[in-house]
Amino acid sequence: MKKRKAAAVFCAAVLLFTGCSGGADTVSDGTEETVPEESGPVRAQDDFYRYVNGEYLENAEFEYGYQATASGLNAVDVGEQVEDIVREIVAGSGYAEGTEEYIIQNAYNSYLAYDFENAGVPQQLQQAMDDIMAVQSVDELLILDSTLNFELAGRFNLVPVTFDTNYFDSTEECLTFTQLSSLFGADFTALEDSYDSLDDVKTFTSIVMQSMGCSREDADELGQQAGYMVMEVYNHTDTEQFDALMHEEYFQLYTREQIDEILTNVDLDAYLMAYGIDLTGIDEFGIFDPEQLQSINDMFTDENLDVLKAIELSNLIQDYGQFIYPYYDQLRQYSSTSYDTAEDQAINVVINELAAETDPIYVEQYYTEEMDDALVSMCDDIRDEYREMISEAEWLSEDTRAGLIEKLDNIIYITGASSHRHDPSEYRDLTYDDYFRFIVDYRCMGLMESLSGFTQPVDRSAPGMAMQTLNACYDPSSNSITITVAIMNAPQFDLDQDYYANLGGLGMVIAHEMGHAFDSNCINYDQNGAYNPSWVSDADRQTLIDRNQQAVSYFEDNFTMFGVYHVDGEQTLGENYADLGGMECISRIPETNEERMIMYESFAAIWCQKILDTAFINQIATDVHSPSYIRVNAILSTLDLFYETYGVTEGDGMYIPPENRISRWY
Ligand SMILES: [Zn+2]
Repeated sequence: MKKRKAAAVFCAAVLLFTGCSGGADTVSDGTEETVPEESGPVRAQDDFYRYVNGEYLENAEFEYGYQATASGLNAVDVGEQVEDIVREIVAGSGYAEGTEEYIIQNAYNSYLAYDFENAGVPQQLQQAMDDIMAVQSVDELLILDSTLNFELAGRFNLVPVTFDTNYFDSTEECLTFTQLSSLFGADFTALEDSYDSLDDVKTFTSIVMQSMGCSREDADELGQQAGYMVMEVYNHTDTEQFDALMHEEYFQLYTREQIDEILTNVDLDAYLMAYGIDLTGIDEFGIFDPEQLQSINDMFTDENLDVLKAIELSNLIQDYGQFIYPYYDQLRQYSSTSYDTAEDQAINVVINELAAETDPIYVEQYYTEEMDDALVSMCDDIRDEYREMISEAEWLSEDTRAGLIEKLDNIIYITGASSHRHDPSEYRDLTYDDYFRFIVDYRCMGLMESLSGFTQPVDRSAPGMAMQTLNACYDPSSNSITITVAIMNAPQFDLDQDYYANLGGLGMVIAHEMGHAFDSNCINYDQNGAYNPSWVSDADRQTLIDRNQQAVSYFEDNFTMFGVYHVDGEQTLGENYADLGGMECISRIPETNEERMIMYESFAAIWCQKILDTAFINQIATDVHSPSYIRVNAILSTLDLFYETYGVTEGDGMYIPPENRISRWY
């Protein structure tokens, strides 16, 4: 089960436009580009975004199947960089045993050598399937579920328990009952709109059971019941949490006694022991959605045994489908691959399964000490300006200002320098003769590694995301900023370009992330990263709320697209504030107009993207970021220094009367 940490991480990049689903259905006919066509040169004072990006916006063309195209943040295709690395490694030779290269090359060859069509269902999987079918009680099934998840590094537990940060004391992890946002493959957010996603659960469960020899009628009945179970849990789910920016606000600590009152049908000690976790001495559990957990508990009755077995089997088959599908006529349809050649398929498997191996190599290839020095020094410049701005913010009490500065000074930077090659000796025992054996052992090693991490104090410097991900993030519980290697590409960063160009690009990303530490959501975390909304006094909190309200109105009143679509000021508040604070901060660094112009232009350039109207409307409805066009113009239109730099006056397109402008720190 994945940790739901993502909810607490605030990212800089809108990755919407990289998310090509590859299908023609993403393009609908009759759509036009978003930014209105204009003729003649655009003045900086009228529309800064188009002034900088106009040429691209007019000439760029969409690639087939894409909804957007960009020349800024996403100019470099990181996926291609990683693929090149993998192709080069598999074609090379002479790698030392246990190194990342060795694992990649051997996994690739092992995959190619494996005869998925004729090898038969691997014995361990066959045994697991037989064991599930033979189970006689729900108690037995629960233990088997936990055992199989441990032995096969499965991704699903019937009981949704995992280790997560203790949000009230972020130096430690605690066993946490997460909130499920999907069950048996049915996504709960999709269920809010229609019950279509239930069909997949019903159909797949039925097909699995027919493959196991059930009659069509019985199998359909089990599928039907699986659907009812999903609905039952969904009906007891606090769906408000899905939309919450701060998932942590729902986090509670329960005692063992409280948990036992909910989990009346589960022997928790035995369940977790089968996973290698001893509960002796543990009396504190995190929990997000007690009512949902109660409804999950209520599923575990012997009357439901047959349908629970069907679900357990379906999950196992989904996790290891490629080894099972070819041997059952009705399941074969699920094993289709989308690659032309076996080699391409193998490359894709390596990229997806072995990101932990490709990541340090990516860093080695694309990151240097010189880049790290430049990055850290830029981070320090930005932090220095924040320190000044916060100390000057006399609208806050002295205590709060001191607290915020302490929080600022506690922020740590996580960069490519935090990533290290692994110790080859720990990977020597992996075997490659049989791809199934390899992948199970490899996944189990990953599981063991994450389990052992949980007994240690939280490592604040663990990267928030892979270094080959083009993004940056602020994590409030570790009070850290992760700046990946992939985001340190041109145009946002280049050692050979002007400092102020880097400042407007990557520097703005960093300042934005640092700004998140003080945004309307993350302000609830104290200087040590604990979720503690009362660490800011009531009076200061009210002042902050009042200013928030001004920011909501500023975005909603002044910026629309097509004259109708307003940015949702509440939804985008955290991100707008991070942008605003970030820009106020970096604007203080240049000393001349020229330097400032380089910086502003670089800022507008990294957000340059052309997007279909349909995608744009969808973004406004769902994204916590404002669209790029507004992201640039709205922020600059409220910044006095921008007015001075370009001589913006009343009557210009970028002009907003002083009484309507907002500020984060002034
Ligand atoms: Zn952000």
